[in-house]
Amino acid sequence: MLSGMRRLLLVLVSLSAAAIGVRGADAAGPLLYRFSFPEPQHRWMQVEATFPDLPPAPLELRMSRSSPGRYSLHEFAKNVYDVHAAGPDGAELPTTRPDPYGWTVARHGATVTVKYKVYGDFIDGTYLAIDETHAHINMPAAVMWARGLDDRPSTLTFDEPPGLHWTVATQLHRAGSPLEFTAPNLQYLMDSPTEFGPVAMREFTVGTSRFRFAAHHLGTDAELDGYVKDVEKIVRQEGAVYGEYPRYEPGYYTFLADYLPYASADGMEHRNSTVMTYAATIAQNRLRLLDTVAHEFFHCWNVERIRPQGLEPFDFDRANMTDSLWLAEGFTQYYGPLILQRAGIIDLSETADTIAGLVSSVALSPAHEIRSAVDMSRMAPFIDGGRRSDRTNWSRTVISYYPFGGAIALALDLELRERSDGRVTLDDFMRAMWRAYGKPGGSREGYVDKPYSVDDAEARLADVSGDRAFAHEFFSRYVEGHDVADYTRLLSRAGFILRKRNPGRAWAGNLFSPRSGERVASLVSPTWPVYAAGLEQDDDVREIDGQAIRSPEDLDGVLARHRPGDRVDIVFVDRTTRSKTVPVTLAEDPQLEVVPIERDGKLSVAQKAFRDRWLGPQEAK
Ligand SMILES: [Zn+2]
Repeated sequence: MLSGMRRLLLVLVSLSAAAIGVRGADAAGPLLYRFSFPEPQHRWMQVEATFPDLPPAPLELRMSRSSPGRYSLHEFAKNVYDVHAAGPDGAELPTTRPDPYGWTVARHGATVTVKYKVYGDFIDGTYLAIDETHAHINMPAAVMWARGLDDRPSTLTFDEPPGLHWTVATQLHRAGSPLEFTAPNLQYLMDSPTEFGPVAMREFTVGTSRFRFAAHHLGTDAELDGYVKDVEKIVRQEGAVYGEYPRYEPGYYTFLADYLPYASADGMEHRNSTVMTYAATIAQNRLRLLDTVAHEFFHCWNVERIRPQGLEPFDFDRANMTDSLWLAEGFTQYYGPLILQRAGIIDLSETADTIAGLVSSVALSPAHEIRSAVDMSRMAPFIDGGRRSDRTNWSRTVISYYPFGGAIALALDLELRERSDGRVTLDDFMRAMWRAYGKPGGSREGYVDKPYSVDDAEARLADVSGDRAFAHEFFSRYVEGHDVADYTRLLSRAGFILRKRNPGRAWAGNLFSPRSGERVASLVSPTWPVYAAGLEQDDDVREIDGQAIRSPEDLDGVLARHRPGDRVDIVFVDRTTRSKTVPVTLAEDPQLEVVPIERDGKLSVAQKAFRDRWLGPQEAK
């Protein structure tokens, strides 16, 4: 009763807010952005932004501090310079700097035009890159916006650099000319990365949904043609998970790929597009590139429309935090390779290796005892592209929410299948999330009206499993708690064996890296035998079991002569130059592997049926 009243009140409030937004937008003209590139070889662009029909209050011009899909701060104002504001007569208006991210025009008329330059030389999903081959634009890195004008539409015009003929690929709406686009509001504008260059465009349809693949690459046309056929297989298999595609607002979904030797490795999701960048051609690294396609496209449901609370609407002034990246990113991480398997692009041994990686990331890390999957999501503003100069102990206290969430998805999928004899799967859970939170959409384009909470996700698991107690136990143990699922049992149903990779091999810890010499290369984990002996990062190991240690290979030689459980003395010098001799009890190498049972034994009929339903191609439901 109370919650019903509250909901009604919220509906009324949001209706009146929408009405005000629409009235304001109707009365005022669009914001006008013009991007030009007088010297692309010097990697900057000129931006001219005109804000018409302004109220008399001071105009607060802002550069974003964050970018949708990236959770740390990026401070895009750092590359902006030569900023000038003017009225319609061209007379300069004085600006002040309220903070490092903004320029304020205190006194102005109805229209203000601001001109500025912005430097950019980083091809990925977050930043800006300009050179003679293209302009690769992530809007938060390029666009100066005005506080309070979020609901105003904007028009963007792209000027070709002198002597170059480029085309625009973007999820922005087409306007009059091929170089003119519109966005309905600030949220949508910021979510619309744009590739302006010699773009090769391919297109396909699935049912009534249109998909465009825009590539800036150095491969051949035939390579791109064959590649896009695999992209279509991925799009079809992911469509089968949800049973339908979202309604893409421009009328199509656009993949924006920059496969260039001077690109960084990245993938970034948006509502109706994705940016994928990599320093390889299609021929050189096809599988890796397709893995990114599978991951990013899955996001057009999971994260873009099945949207976690905390990210909606996105706040460009600060870091955005959510409790649910284990689901938004982790479940997407699980589905990427699963979809490649279902589409027939990778084989069973590759899937087995992926599974081993997911399980190992959680089972072999002591961090799951310290932070839950929810806690790991809250670390995103520090770990997702965050810059730091001090040391952290994250190698023992943090597991990325990508593999952590992927491992949770794996456990949940297998658990649901086992409990229901294959009738209920993780696909059903994703569809339930889609129907409850994604499909209803938003009252304004670019918004999601019903972002979900962790409790909502648990409630949908209760619905699809038909077992509230099971859903509650799963969430409290594996999502909000510190347990690790019984992967050995779960995987055996599908005819996979989870086992030690090197049974019987003695192990002291992962002390050295190839370039560390005989110094301890990283933080020592509490799970390593040398932890109890007091060894730590930077300690200089001199001798183990009487053998001088001058390289990682010397340690391998010692271990080969021993068994797990043996005690050996380690002589080391710590960073205060004190020499110490300590006993260490060797353990068994903990590394795991997953192998299909038929490699050594026989796949049963039941295991084969379970595995085929899970990993085989799916029909749209
Ligand atoms: Zn992702």
